[in-house]
Amino acid sequence: MNAPPTDTSDCRIVNAMSVDVEDYFHVSVFDGIVPRSSWDQMESRVCANTERLLDIFDEHAIKSTFFILGCVAERHPGLVRGIVERGHEIASHGYAHRLVYDQTPDAFRDDVRRAKRLLEDAAGCSVGGFRAPSYSITPRSLWALDVLIEEGYWYDASIFPIRHDRYGIPVSPREPFLIEREGGGLIEVPGSTVRVGPLNLPVAGGGYFRILPYWWTRWGIARLNTLERQAAVFYLHPWEIDAEQPRLRAGWLSRFRHYRNLDQTESRLHDLLGDFRFDTVASLLQPDRRTASERSGSPASLPYLW
Ligand SMILES: [Zn+2]
Repeated sequence: MNAPPTDTSDCRIVNAMSVDVEDYFHVSVFDGIVPRSSWDQMESRVCANTERLLDIFDEHAIKSTFFILGCVAERHPGLVRGIVERGHEIASHGYAHRLVYDQTPDAFRDDVRRAKRLLEDAAGCSVGGFRAPSYSITPRSLWALDVLIEEGYWYDASIFPIRHDRYGIPVSPREPFLIEREGGGLIEVPGSTVRVGPLNLPVAGGGYFRILPYWWTRWGIARLNTLERQAAVFYLHPWEIDAEQPRLRAGWLSRFRHYRNLDQTESRLHDLLGDFRFDTVASLLQPDRRTASERSGSPASLPYLW
């Protein structure tokens, strides 16, 4: 398939850049292959890879949100401090990279509370954003949104409005939206998609950026910015720029998803940062946050079954 012509010269909209800070062995596809009890004995590569991303962001003068695992903050508190000192936003990716729908509400609460405390201690500032491992807030774990509100988070970026074998709520809104509950409010920041016919197709990050040709991402973000006047929320992981990482044994689909085009991600990232404007997720949401705090009245429910 040939690339559609894409002009990004008129894309004045500022998009959000985000990084899920985890090591190569924390990834959900390796659950059961690298047990959590052996994580501390694994060679850690997350600091060096994150430092490289920070240098790339400095080169392009952009700020990003870093959704950091609590267990990474515990093992490498200096990494968290360094990210803050370079002017970026710190947010939470949970403590132990457990899928939300595999946990009880109490276990999830302990996980996100522990992560928030570790991150705030290391960063020296408050943490208000959350992204679940593998976008695992789905129809069977919507209770997690109430827990996040109660634990002091003000935005969540864990719902992908697509069909996928592991995650997604295809009927969920494609733009950031406010969820108001008895316990307070939360802004939901969905993974970015373009609408093609009856489908929402993911366009901004992770495997979709690394495995598909770059023109797909470029076309998708340009379409969001120019036709829909919407910002994209891009995401990637430090291990995605690390072609030298140790190879772990897993099924062929998992190996394909994790190892494909690792040696191309960094140059694609330079292209992306040259083509579009980026800032943190919090900066994208500040106007919505003000609106949320000024609102009053009865809580609204989500636009799908709660
Ligand atoms: Zn993750």
